[in-house]
Amino acid sequence: QSFKSVALIVGVTGIVGSSLSEILQYTDTPGGPWKVYGVARRPRPTWLAKSHVEYVQCDVTNTEETISKISPLTDITHIFYVSWMGNENCSMNAVMFQNILNSVIPNAPNLQHICLQTGSKHYIGLFETDTPESHDTPYSEDLARLKQPNFYHNLEDILFEETAKKGLTWSVHRPALIFGFSPCSLMNIVSTLSVYAAICKHENKPLVYPGSKASWNCFVDAADAELAAEHQIWAAVDPNAKNQAFNCTNGDLFKWKHIWKVLANQFDLEMVGYIEGNEQVSMEELMKDKDSVWDEIVKKNNLMPTKLKEIAAFWFADIAFCLENVLSSTHKNRLHGFMGFRNTYTSFVSCIDKMRAYRFIP
Ligand code: NAD
Repeated sequence: QSFKSVALIVGVTGIVGSSLSEILQYTDTPGGPWKVYGVARRPRPTWLAKSHVEYVQCDVTNTEETISKISPLTDITHIFYVSWMGNENCSMNAVMFQNILNSVIPNAPNLQHICLQTGSKHYIGLFETDTPESHDTPYSEDLARLKQPNFYHNLEDILFEETAKKGLTWSVHRPALIFGFSPCSLMNIVSTLSVYAAICKHENKPLVYPGSKASWNCFVDAADAELAAEHQIWAAVDPNAKNQAFNCTNGDLFKWKHIWKVLANQFDLEMVGYIEGNEQVSMEELMKDKDSVWDEIVKKNNLMPTKLKEIAAFWFADIAFCLENVLSSTHKNRLHGFMGFRNTYTSFVSCIDKMRAYRFIP
């Protein structure tokens, strides 16, 4: 088969990487037909086995390994960088991205465009920063960078410098909280909440909201992983989207108190929600001894084998459940021609459905 475009997805097992790998294989995807290479650190997971992705297991923090495994892929036309190392270290995250670009740019003569996924932390600062400064909402793409160190700045700077040298085009994608189905993501809020609900069900407990009152009541925005993938493919092929940074959200708003009802319903649980007067309780603390409970749930329901710490990121829910008013402006996409949107509640349920179909959750 001859391909019009050749994608390199860095982080193919991740929350957006897995959706990119699916969508790029549809016959009607813009820019297609696409050949797809997918890079991730771990061996190819069984749930990716049926996909047509040419899987490359590579630790991209390792410069020699990356050069030896990625530089032979000389037909790449587009890079989708949807990875991070799992912590916010500026220099190591920069090394990962630089290793990829050093392997591809000198060796792939038809390379055209590089999509870089960062996120709303561009506007609120890193989670690990003690005294975060932050912009006022809604965040628009043209706001000045915050002064504190942020690996997103390092990645952007590498992107701008490397694309300018070769006359390549680029786009930066700043999704809100992502709703997706991957069990290999370092931050998947839907799988985290589903696992929490499954544990409550298993232990005959009601679904209590452990977060702050302010987070229970405020508006939040999210980005469906498929929408985030469509957004990147749009930018990769549409001339109107070149050399720009774009926020990416579903285009609507939601509240955790409404999602909580949906979650209780999905797992047939008594819904308690936020208990008036309660301070936030750490989910990471609540769930710290539940590894064997999850193992039992996996066994009892004949699920794909996963470990609690892989499929659930309770530390991430703790952050999501103390934030308020983290909202991104969505005008710029539309002005440049991206009209995609999702209903966030429908997106939440379809991620649960998909995780059930893959037997990741009961
Ligand atoms: P993810 O955690 O879902 O997936 C990470 C991917 O990168 C996996 O495929 C993993 O195997 C791969 N990877 C990690 N280290 C690697 C290494 N050393 N070598 C090779 N592959 C490696 O990723 P994500 O959540 O899409 O994160 C990408 C970016 O998006 C990050 O900057 C993140 O902050 C941002 N973001 C995430 C969310 C979210 O809700 N998950 C929301 C907004 C922005």
